[in-house]
Amino acid sequence: MSTPLVKIEALKKYFPVRSDSLLPTQKNWVKAVDGVDLEIQPGEVIGLVGESGCGKTTLVNVLLRLEDPTDGRIIFDGVDITRVSQKMLQRQVRKNIQIVFQDPFWSLNPRMLVRDVVGEPLTVHLRLAQMELIQRVEALLEMVGLSTDSVYKYPHEFSGGQRQRIAIARALALEPKLVVLDEPTSSIDILSQAQILDLLMQLKQRLGLTYILISHDLSVVHYMSDRIVVMYLGKVVEQGPATVVFNHPAHPYTQALFNALPSLEMNSLDDLQTLEGNVPSAINPPAGCRFHTRCPQVMEICKTVEPQMLPVGENHSAACHLLSSGGFNDAKL
Ligand code: SF4
Repeated sequence: MSTPLVKIEALKKYFPVRSDSLLPTQKNWVKAVDGVDLEIQPGEVIGLVGESGCGKTTLVNVLLRLEDPTDGRIIFDGVDITRVSQKMLQRQVRKNIQIVFQDPFWSLNPRMLVRDVVGEPLTVHLRLAQMELIQRVEALLEMVGLSTDSVYKYPHEFSGGQRQRIAIARALALEPKLVVLDEPTSSIDILSQAQILDLLMQLKQRLGLTYILISHDLSVVHYMSDRIVVMYLGKVVEQGPATVVFNHPAHPYTQALFNALPSLEMNSLDDLQTLEGNVPSAINPPAGCRFHTRCPQVMEICKTVEPQMLPVGENHSAACHLLSSGGFNDAKL
């Protein structure tokens, strides 16, 4: 283990919501992220998984400092970016942490030439002369597998996969240390998906990048990630090496997520075990273990006492009372 590139400590992000109460002082809060601790090593690929509303997007938005945290700290590359000036924010965060969005159709301005789409961060942060700018943009396009004559085309002249390559070139323009991949392949065709995943892995090796991958596609997460972090209702409930978490999930929620994946051994889709019920409200989350309202292995203690993260194996931990009660049942063993 080296010095982490990212160290997140007790991070919280609450959003105020209108209260039904007549008392103006009484506020309700959506506890989107509620006490997350996480370390990311340089060069790691972290797969962040969980159902919609589990807090993964909010966590990433706070990390990107698109949102201010309610409490807690984020240390990025040795600097506490939760308490920095705007100037430092520009230098430390905007330049060094980039994001590739899900949908290249919407994330690229259709009225801008590829030269300007990819070159915009260079213009804003480095103020390069026109000639040097074009050379840098051409080099970035070649790096993502596009020809240099793409410079004077518009995004709509490209396929979905090619557009995602343009988005990746733009994200890498400032040579960031950390790239957030937000469902990077979910809006493109299946053949391009495999090519984009390969490209991302090649770029990671070549440039020494660190990725946070958000995806609902668990096979993509398994393929790409070194480590998987599972979130449920604003909290991390399990984290560990990708292969271990995928094959031997410890937390009943992770087991339920992975049991919902089709496999070759199944005779029909009726064999899929899907998770019952919806994610409860983050305004008033269940007491004790937040998963207890849906957990097939719920015990009395789960309804009142919040489980803490406990080690399951090497670099593998989970927050579940089964681990301390001796009732741990590895559903995939
Ligand atoms: Fe289920 Fe209890 Fe474990 Fe929560 S703590 S996941 S309710 S067994």
